[in-house]
Amino acid sequence: MDIKNLQAIISNSGNIVFFGGAGVSTESGIPDFRSVDGLYNEKYKYPPETILSHRFFIKNTMDFYDFYKSKMLFLDAKPNKAHNRLAELEKMGKLKAVITQNIDGLHQVAGSKNVLELHGSVHRNYCMKCRKFYDVNAILNSKDVPTCDCGGTIKPHVVLYEESLDDKVMNKAVEYISNADVLIIGGTSLGVYPAAGLIQYYQGDKLILINKSTTPMDKNANLLLNGSIGEILGALELWTYSICQNYHYHKN
Ligand code: ZN
Repeated sequence: MDIKNLQAIISNSGNIVFFGGAGVSTESGIPDFRSVDGLYNEKYKYPPETILSHRFFIKNTMDFYDFYKSKMLFLDAKPNKAHNRLAELEKMGKLKAVITQNIDGLHQVAGSKNVLELHGSVHRNYCMKCRKFYDVNAILNSKDVPTCDCGGTIKPHVVLYEESLDDKVMNKAVEYISNADVLIIGGTSLGVYPAAGLIQYYQGDKLILINKSTTPMDKNANLLLNGSIGEILGALELWTYSICQNYHYHKN
């Protein structure tokens, strides 16, 4: 029944915005680094939040990259049904933007064009001295600290702890959310900044929340779906639905 409601809302809208968190990527086999487990503690001397901080990057650059390369880069991961379905909705002209907290670039691999990456992307890296850009191979192929031709240190264009989000990206996200007819939020517990804050800009009455566990925003949702984001979005039958509508139209 809830899937039918979701399908009806999506079929009737031409201005959908999607906001996604780590849960969208975990279904592609990319672990959420915030879920600290024993493995991290055994192998690394510091918690991930410390290693992935600006100060740590500056002071312990090599240790940062040891962790980053083995725990943050999942270049073999493939888009899942959620990524694919969102890309399809964009192609149909129904979805205006994907706003994501993930840094893996899987939405683009699936074919999405308008992706706002709040936390940056592992695929963009730049020299801290001359700002020259490098792709992820510059990081992967470097045995030591990745270094630019000019001698500067290459840093991933990923927002670390203690760093602020890009104003331009944030402003665009606010604009899309403020103007959205339907806002779908998926795969985020909505506990951390900036997710919770951004949602306040939504002015419509079709807030759809899809998550495996409960969130502090559940009571604000107009439609709440508990479950896997890939399964739920994958279950939508976008084309079939419009054919059905035509059928009913002709019958009447
Ligand atoms: Zn340089």
